[in-house]
Amino acid sequence: MNKVQCPICDAAMPGTWQECPDYPFCSARCRKIDLGRWLDGKYRVPDSTPPDSRSTAGQGDAD
Ligand SMILES: [Zn+2]
Repeated sequence: MNKVQCPICDAAMPGTWQECPDYPFCSARCRKIDLGRWLDGKYRVPDSTPPDSRSTAGQGDAD
């Protein structure tokens, strides 16, 4: 039999995975932890916004 383990806490799943409503996690708590990690990685994007310094274009005060 394949024993399913929780990817978060490595705890063995209670019973079969079909009986676990939080599969593949052992509990709703571990499911939230995994979700938090996922969101944390998703939102941690590099700031690739180019510095737009052309906002002063058209300001011809020279001469
Ligand atoms: Zn767990």
